[in-house]
Amino acid sequence: MTLAYIALGSNLDDPQQQVLDAMDKLASLPDTRLLRRSRLYRTPPWGVLEQPPFVNAAVQVDTALSAYALLDALLDIERGAGRVRAERNGPRTLDLDLLHVEGVQLDDARLTLPHPRMVERAFVLLPLNDLAPALQLPGQGAVAELLARLDLAGCERLP
Ligand code: ADP
Ligand code: MG
Repeated sequence: MTLAYIALGSNLDDPQQQVLDAMDKLASLPDTRLLRRSRLYRTPPWGVLEQPPFVNAAVQVDTALSAYALLDALLDIERGAGRVRAERNGPRTLDLDLLHVEGVQLDDARLTLPHPRMVERAFVLLPLNDLAPALQLPGQGAVAELLARLDLAGCERLP
């Protein structure tokens, strides 16, 4: 079994419910145990500014699936939530990103691990910090230290 961290985000069609439903779907993946769920955060849009705020979260799973099988499962869950790939960084019902898989570093056409843009994004590191502040991202440092460098303006924890 391997520990893996997944980021969840939504800003369409009841984002909070989208994220909670996706957590439940992750909990029922084959050969996978959902160990921990972060809190939920409301965060400002990133990249494309004229869109609703996001709800973001992260989970830690223990899985026997390969990183590629896990990615395929995430894309399936996104499709199930009606994800349409339109504008880059645009609004989405559900985005599931594979952040880190213990012991795995990869960079090919399908999958890059750790996720290449996560260390610049408060909306990723804030929930990940709930789960694993001391987690060392290969070549980048610990989650809590990386988060401390970022601007958290507009990010708030949901009740
Ligand atoms: P983004 O999450 O950056 O807004 P998408 O969700 O549209 O973009 O993802 C596009 C593609 O990125 C996916 O189909 C997948 O093949 C690829 N990808 C590469 N590395 C990862 C990763 N670590 N997690 C999720 N997707 C990844
Ligand atoms: Mg994605």
